[in-house]
Amino acid sequence: MKTNYRRCVSCRKVAPKTDLLRIVRVFPSRAVQLEGMGRSVYLCPQSSCLELAQKKDRLGRSLKAVVSPEIYQRLWQHLSASDTIVGGTIVESAIAESVK
Ligand SMILES: [Zn+2]
Repeated sequence: MKTNYRRCVSCRKVAPKTDLLRIVRVFPSRAVQLEGMGRSVYLCPQSSCLELAQKKDRLGRSLKAVVSPEIYQRLWQHLSASDTIVGGTIVESAIAESVK
């Protein structure tokens, strides 16, 4: 399978799509979420990149949409989940993401 590369909105580093966190503005509701079809932006699973994205509203600017604090909260959860795998929704969404 061909590897798709995407660019992190914070540090501009290019990495395989599967290594990055994906944030999507879904169609047609324009709601910003972490899965679904629509305009997407990518972020390294690193606290420095997420912190910068949050501070500078990189996600909101790229998506031209309002990114709710809940989305950032879930992204932070993704980061802590990569350190220690804990049960629940985080693991489930990680599996769903790898299937795509
Ligand atoms: Zn980055």
